[in-house]
Amino acid sequence: MSQERLARTQAVLQRDDVDALLVGPSADLRWLVGYHALPLERLTLLVVPADGDPQLVVPALEGPRARESGADRYATIRPWEETDDPMALVSSIVGGGGAGRVAVQDRLWTSFTLALQAAIPASTWIPGSEVMRELRMIKSTEEQQALREVGAAIDRVHEQVPGLLRVGRTEREVGRDIADLILVDHDEVNFVIVGSGPNGASPHHETGERVLAAGDAVVVDIGGTRAGYCSDCTRNYVVGDAPAGYAELHAILEDAQERAVAAVRPGVTAEAIDAAAREPIVAAGYGELFIHRTGHGIGVEEHEEPWIVAGNRLLLEAGMAFSVEPGIYVPDRYGARIEDIVLVTEDGVERVNHRPRDVIVAG
Ligand code: ZN
Ligand code: ZN
Ligand code: ZN
Repeated sequence: MSQERLARTQAVLQRDDVDALLVGPSADLRWLVGYHALPLERLTLLVVPADGDPQLVVPALEGPRARESGADRYATIRPWEETDDPMALVSSIVGGGGAGRVAVQDRLWTSFTLALQAAIPASTWIPGSEVMRELRMIKSTEEQQALREVGAAIDRVHEQVPGLLRVGRTEREVGRDIADLILVDHDEVNFVIVGSGPNGASPHHETGERVLAAGDAVVVDIGGTRAGYCSDCTRNYVVGDAPAGYAELHAILEDAQERAVAAVRPGVTAEAIDAAAREPIVAAGYGELFIHRTGHGIGVEEHEEPWIVAGNRLLLEAGMAFSVEPGIYVPDRYGARIEDIVLVTEDGVERVNHRPRDVIVAG
């Protein structure tokens, strides 16, 4: 995977006149060299120069883990001993006090960033995302396939959710069962949201001690990682009869999600997808209750670019992957959100999630 990714990264560095990209433990590091590095107080840093071999600076004691990950196929491992100065090592790789432009991965700790800036004083510093965003945002054929497969895996979990939502169980109990089911076909559980009744009105409520009762609407939003790629899918369930007004609200949401997905194709702006989702919700008088953006990109991270939000004029391109997840949240009563991951194709859109989108009766 990564030889080609590094070559493309170096091409961006050359084009944009950036001398080096510095990447600490992060999704970018996994994407570039497949190394799941521990975020330690000791410096681990991939140095990708515009020209020449990438170097992976690692604490000597982490050397075996780095090699085990296969990162040495893509980068020369440069171990540093406990009494060495890793910043001086990086500085020597980047070219000492050269007056170049250096990109630093956005989530590198301040303690490292400040020390690197002191060790490489003459440089201009830019956020690593300026280099990485275009590389990560357009998914390769393999990445698209990985997203389809992890999407199918989370669909299989949703298929079993109705049997878990029973009167008398707590959200937390249901959430534990869902986490076990996610692990059947994922390597990691990323999050489990079971928002019953009024808890559904808080979009990022996880789980709690609330006991399910007849007449509850329940938002179930779940995701995990499989072979390095993330799933994320939301469906809405009812325990017994739906509460008053809920069916009407949900029908509006289904329409909004459908319209937003149908609007996806290359050349359309990200904000146009948000507008397509928002329009029917606003028209129905629920605009104030749709309290978040319509979606987020997804890949090796749950939330990455592109952001599907008003003001984002970015033009969609084939290979982008993101969520379309409008929601309506009625404080103190219930919430609902319908979420699928979609891929932008050459001439339109493909969903990776396929479970029914209407209200699902549990039991
Ligand atoms: Zn979210
Ligand atoms: Zn979600
Ligand atoms: Zn999402």
